[in-house]
Order: sequence, then structure tokens, then C-alpha cells
Amino acid sequence: MKFKPANNIQDLQYFGEFGGVNPSISDSSTYTFLSAKTMFDSFEGNADGCYLYSRHTSPSNLYLGEALAAMEGTETANVAGSGMGAITPTLLQLCGNGDHIVSSRTIYGGTYAFLKNFTPRLGIQTSFVDITKLDVVEAAIAKNTKVLYCESVSNPLLEVADIKGLSALAKKYNLKLVVDNTFSPLSISPAQLGADVVIHSLTKFINGSSDTMGGVVCGTAEFVNSLKSVIDGASMLLGASMDSLRSSSILKNMRTLHIRMKQHSKNAAFLAEKFEADGLKPVYPGLTSHPSHKIFTAMMNVEYGYGGMLTIDTGSLDKANALMELMQEKNLGYLAVSLGFYKTLFSAPGTSTSSEIPEDEQKEMGLTDGLIRFSIGLDDDIERTYNMMNDCMKEVGVL
Ligand SMILES: *Cc1c(COP(=O)(O)O)cnc(C)c1O
Repeated sequence: MKFKPANNIQDLQYFGEFGGVNPSISDSSTYTFLSAKTMFDSFEGNADGCYLYSRHTSPSNLYLGEALAAMEGTETANVAGSGMGAITPTLLQLCGNGDHIVSSRTIYGGTYAFLKNFTPRLGIQTSFVDITKLDVVEAAIAKNTKVLYCESVSNPLLEVADIKGLSALAKKYNLKLVVDNTFSPLSISPAQLGADVVIHSLTKFINGSSDTMGGVVCGTAEFVNSLKSVIDGASMLLGASMDSLRSSSILKNMRTLHIRMKQHSKNAAFLAEKFEADGLKPVYPGLTSHPSHKIFTAMMNVEYGYGGMLTIDTGSLDKANALMELMQEKNLGYLAVSLGFYKTLFSAPGTSTSSEIPEDEQKEMGLTDGLIRFSIGLDDDIERTYNMMNDCMKEVGVL
């Protein structure tokens, strides 16, 4: 049967305390116990359904976590205060001193900095590889490798990971395949393709209103419970927990995610095709010119499209900056990092979100100075947007 992530979200039902159509918000950091024995059992992890303390979990966080698990088709999920608050405990739970990670070299700048600069202090080494070449990935796997790490669609170069192929490698070498699916919620369902753990920054498309941070780890009950363990769980002990007020607001936004993703994808596909016809060489997984177009197509839940992210290369940082400033002046979007907002957002990743990556490595991976990353908004009249962008491009000499 076909996997239907939006149906899975829609079919969940939680009522509020007084029959409210939204679940009640658990506005408490701590919870009372009727007996001292139950409190002890909770600390031992033997009191299902009891809440202990909100860093561990709260009813509101469980509702959001269950909705995200339903979306990805995993047993369960644990929400965190940010995307990095989901990524870092996951990797620290799976790896310790002496372990090794094979990671895509084109990943979110913060994740890259964590693996490159931070985890070596704890004795965890990472090899960064071209994730689109399975033979290169396999060659990097060593005896002490524990994790294969990638993004379904990578930031900022929009490389597409062959999740089925990577999952086969993970199984062959007994590794955990961890996939950050932030760029392609609903479009790609990594767990259905063999990923062991699926992560999102909720800050982006899933919440969609650029008003909060959030993250989630979706996986088996065994793994998610290990993250939450009061004894040695990295999520519980590192403490990047989400607040209940926020989890309830993200849950409400999540209900329109399918409509938003369709519109983001429709608009991005329209612009990508126009830009390509103009000779701009856009990178967008929906274009047949994209090197991984076929892989994305084979993996995707078609109704949600190829996502809202695209890049163009303007040729130089000066031109990129001039274009972005002019587009902002014309109210076509905002010069801002992040993604998934109703307005188009644009930034030059080489000097912003990926500035953690040293210049020579940026060059090697094809991250040029003139690259602009767009998160295309929900514009109702995308043709008008295109015409105005086209005028801006002519004015600054990109066209
Ligand atoms: C933004 C982002 C993150 C980090 O999420 P935060 O919510 O900012 O901590 C991780 N991965 C990807 C792909 C992102 O875009």
C-alpha cells in the first residue's frame, strides 16, 4: 500500500480537557504523583503513562512527537528545542569515544561544524564524502564506523541522497542510517526507504511561520526511549527540550503542512523552469537537468512535489548581494537565512549558513561565492513574482 504521510497526520485525534478540538496545553514543568512508589517507578522507566518532569517529556510534546512519528511512519518520536537539539543528542547516543561516522560533505553548516570541530574532542571522528556516490561511501566505512549520516536533500547544494542504496550499505555493515529530512517533509519519507532515524528541524517548513525553533528525532521506540533515559539518555541529559507552549503551536501549524508544501513546490518548480529557460542554470531536483532528478522521483510521494528550495549561481558575490538587496527592496522576499516561511527567503550560503565550511572545501564541493539559495514562498501569483525577479536580474546584470 502507498504511504500517505498527510493522511497519517490528519487521522490523529486528541481532544482538550473540556472537549476542546485542540489538546490541552500542559502548562507545567513538574507533575504530582499519588504515591511515592509510582515516582520511583517513573525514574526507573517502569511507569508508563506517568509524567515526571518536562525535560523528560510532557503531554503536549508527546502529541507533537506522535504526529511527527505518524508523518514519517516510525514507531515514535521525541521533540527537541531546535534542530541541532535533535541532531547532536542522536549522534552522541549512537557514538562514543573511538567511534567513526561517515557523513555527507554537503550538510547543514551547524551539523558540519559539530562533526568537524566538536565531536573530535570526544574521540569521535567523521569522514566527509560525496554521498551521491555509493562506492565512495562504502570505501569510507571502517571497522569502528557506527553511523551513516546525510540529508535527503542537502543544504545548500540540493544533492539528493539515494536512501535505499545507503540503507542497504548500513545493513551490510551494521550501521545506523540517520537522515535529516528538513528540506523535504512529506515529499520524501526516509524511514519508508530504510532510514533508521529521521530528523527534522521543525524551525523550517514543518512549523512554517518562522516564529520558533524546534526539532524532532523519529525512530524506533527502543532508540527514542534510550534518548530519553534518565540514566544515560543524551536528550534527557543534554537538555535541549521543547517547551509545551511551543509544541502545541507547532502541532497546529503542522496540520496545514500538506497544503503549504504543495504550494512551495509548485512555485519553486515554476521559477526553476523559467530561470532555466533564461539560461541561469538553477539547481532544483524537479528539473530533469538535476543530476539526481531520477533518484528523487523514484523516492518521492508525488503529490507534494520537489520541494521549495532552489539555487542559482549569479557568478560573483557582488552580484549575488546586489540581486538579493534589490529583491528585498521590491518586497519579493527577505534577505534572511532559514527556510519554509510564507515569504521567499534568500541568502548566499558561502558567506552565511555554510561559512563554517573552510573556503577550499566549499570550492571542492561546488559551493561558489555567487550562489544564492532560495526558499520559495507561498505567493499566489508566482508569474508576477517571476516577472519582477526577472526585472531585478536584468537591473543588476545577472541576466
Ligand atoms: C536549520 C537546519 C538545521 C538546524 O536546525 P535548527 O532548528 O536551526 O537548530 C539542521 N538541518 C538542516 C537541514 C537545517 O536546514
